[in-house]
Amino acid sequence: MTPIRRQYLKIKHSYPDAIVLFRLGDFYETFDADARLAANELEITLTSRSMGKNVKVPMAGVPAHALDSYLAQLIKKGHKVAICEQLTEPSHSRGLVERDVVRVVTPGTVVEPGLLDQKSNNYLAAVVEENGWAGLAWVDVTTGEFSATQLEAAGIGLELERIAPAEVLAPAGELLGNNGELPGEPPTDPPGGWRETPRSNITAVDSAAFDLNTCREAILSHYGILSLESFGCDNLPLAVRAAGAILAYLTSTHKANLPRLSPLGIYSTGAYMALDPQTKQNLELFQAGRGHSSEHSLLAVLDQTRTAMGARLLRRWLGQPLLDPVDLNQRLDVVDSFHADGFRRASATAALSRIADLERIVGRIQAGASPPRDLIALKTGLAAAGELVDSIGDSAATAWLRPQLAPVSEAPALIAEAIADEPTGNPGEGGVIRPGFSAELDRLKAAAGDARRFIAGLEQQERERTGIRSLKVGYNQVFGYYIEVTKSGIPQVPEDYVRRQTLVNGERYVIPELKEYESMALTAREQIEELERDLYRRVCAQLSESAEAIQRLARGVAQADALASLASVAVANRYVRPAIGRGHEIRIKEGRHPVVERTLDGGRYVPNDVHLSGDDARIIVLTGPNMAGKSTYIRQVAIIVLMAQIGSFVPASEATVGLVDRIFTRVGLQDDLTTGQSTFMVEMVETAAILNQATPRSLVVLDEIGRGTSTYDGMAIARAVIEHLHNDPRLGCKSLFATHYHELTDLANTLPGVRNFNVAVVEEGGGVVFLHRIIPGGADQSYGVQVARLAGLPPAVINRAWEVLNDLEQPGKAAPVRAAGPGLDGQGLQMPLFDPSRALQELVLGVDISNLTPLEAINKLYHLQEKARELPERW
Ligand code: ADP
Repeated sequence: MTPIRRQYLKIKHSYPDAIVLFRLGDFYETFDADARLAANELEITLTSRSMGKNVKVPMAGVPAHALDSYLAQLIKKGHKVAICEQLTEPSHSRGLVERDVVRVVTPGTVVEPGLLDQKSNNYLAAVVEENGWAGLAWVDVTTGEFSATQLEAAGIGLELERIAPAEVLAPAGELLGNNGELPGEPPTDPPGGWRETPRSNITAVDSAAFDLNTCREAILSHYGILSLESFGCDNLPLAVRAAGAILAYLTSTHKANLPRLSPLGIYSTGAYMALDPQTKQNLELFQAGRGHSSEHSLLAVLDQTRTAMGARLLRRWLGQPLLDPVDLNQRLDVVDSFHADGFRRASATAALSRIADLERIVGRIQAGASPPRDLIALKTGLAAAGELVDSIGDSAATAWLRPQLAPVSEAPALIAEAIADEPTGNPGEGGVIRPGFSAELDRLKAAAGDARRFIAGLEQQERERTGIRSLKVGYNQVFGYYIEVTKSGIPQVPEDYVRRQTLVNGERYVIPELKEYESMALTAREQIEELERDLYRRVCAQLSESAEAIQRLARGVAQADALASLASVAVANRYVRPAIGRGHEIRIKEGRHPVVERTLDGGRYVPNDVHLSGDDARIIVLTGPNMAGKSTYIRQVAIIVLMAQIGSFVPASEATVGLVDRIFTRVGLQDDLTTGQSTFMVEMVETAAILNQATPRSLVVLDEIGRGTSTYDGMAIARAVIEHLHNDPRLGCKSLFATHYHELTDLANTLPGVRNFNVAVVEEGGGVVFLHRIIPGGADQSYGVQVARLAGLPPAVINRAWEVLNDLEQPGKAAPVRAAGPGLDGQGLQMPLFDPSRALQELVLGVDISNLTPLEAINKLYHLQEKARELPERW
């Protein structure tokens, strides 16, 4: 076995669960099973290499300069990758180059810019559970943000959903499902909820990593503090255990390069509105429509941020609306001040545009992985942050924000002093450190310059001295610099020339002076390389001392950016400041749906009011035909409340929002039929969850509940749900209920908290026009046939539907449905009156299947089923 093979195996032994990328010169190589896996996943060639007598091992490699893109592919596919570097320069070491793993890359610990989404955080989380309680900690290594909380175990799923970590650490034992079960045995209960969520990439770690004492020590030593009281978590053992496990994991992945994280922030989940995944999806906060694109999401409307930090923060805010009116009014005050003053807004925006991603730059500087341009961006950004503070001004409204933007002065001063304005190349190539910063470096550069100049001038000088016109100075790897003379010039060669090499038609010589300058240039280059690298490292180390201050400032910048963005959006879209209250009332005048209004041509969106209160207007039953605008309206109310609770202005002419603790949404008959689950079952499970969890402070939005089953079942369930929402003393929450069952409107007669509204339509020549206006009172009919016509059903079908409908609606008379002609004999005779199934058959056959959208098909099916159900009663 060769020494390299032995070295490799020793290293691989410590990283059995990672793909080891082993640096060999200009390549990262993988061997054995890793090589097969890598070849497969990366579509690179699998070769083999002889590594000893009769030892041939599979090998697959990637060029070192392309590491990031290959790394990205492996991480995306869920692999862990250990990067093994050469620790000594091959030219400097005798024998085997020293190698070791310098970093393990996992989905939650990525720092490479190319592998990260600029506008979202990349979190690593850890969860530990005990006796119904849980500790949860999460960190973004690239920004240093580190938080922990302790909560009821049942809330873990939702909290993880909010944080959306790229990787979750959990104690290995608990991943088996139930306590003490042997692997392989089926668990008696399904394993805990949060572990089932498909997006969490769970990494099992040794449960010893969650040991309380070890964890406490890890936190104390990482921050160099004496007591956990500094972070207020001395009596939160589960939070401490989760946070400690994260530190242990990061130490194993980052080795010596783990940057100091920001102070551990202890928070309570009670500070935020919980948003379940369905609600985020139904309200299209981050992704919209079938394609789940982000383009028509609420975030896309609200995000006019100028910095990556601001974009990440705004995204977080949207997923965690606040519950405290004081906090909200603080945000709103700043939005207001930017909103009211266009000049202030413009100058803040201009300053923000020049601020790079300070959070991640600082992370890279601390990890020793920042290119010189990071430092320049840091300097520019810190200066621009100063202008940002000026633009914010010092009114009472913005007073809370200013301290968060405390200037950092040492860092930019150091960069200005040490780093060239436009650094070129990498540290060591001589173009990074500013002249004047190090006398020694300047001397070396001057010496190197002298030598270069001497050599450059030598050709001319020697031609003149010797009179040999063809004399040339050249360079090659073997001899270094030489003087070349062709045959004809050889007789004129002076005595001090020393012959080095004979060519076919000439000779090569050196002179002592040339060799002197050559070695001067060489040594100078080596020394410059070493010194400049060293100086750069020292500058970075010194900058790292300001890391905490810069991170704090970066967070202030992110807040200012997010708030300025909300103000710009408010101005552009004519939003108003909502009045935030502790009461139960929600009153919106001329509210609009912020996303739908942008997809319509200017001015066509019809604004609508809403009034919900804790007593006599608790529940709105909204009826109206399909496509009238019911869903848009009820979502619009929920979105306006949510916007108010992140501190945004809202699309309305006036709004009062009594804070809600949770928004629940349930949409019946989801368009997404691809999941394979019975939609009705899903709908009922979700409805049950709402009825079990809502409080009097919640806002419940139910769209077409009960639609997934037969008319009577569906209506019965819908009715029972409304009654329960209304009558259960634990609930009494504000609810918006959209339904096309116009029969439900009579609930308002018996339940005092229920109000009926409907969407106005006008009938015109057998068709309907949707006015999108919400008016008091219930709808009295469904307009199904009219809508079907709008949807493009063939006229023959529509006419026939009218006939059938007329027959069915004969009051008090069990009217037979007249069958459609032509009759069986083809001569237009009426079918015998007593064949009701024939009418339905006609209807079914009249459907133009090839021209139906899925939604129309569902509507049609529903309609047909309804007709079918009605028939036997009349016969
Ligand atoms: P429903 O839930 O009653 O079937 P939707 O809420 O899905 O109807 O609305 C159907 C379409 O009507 C929407 O896609 C939108 O384009 C339009 N619409 C809804 N509300 C309004 C409004 N207030 N102003 C203008 N257009 C609207």
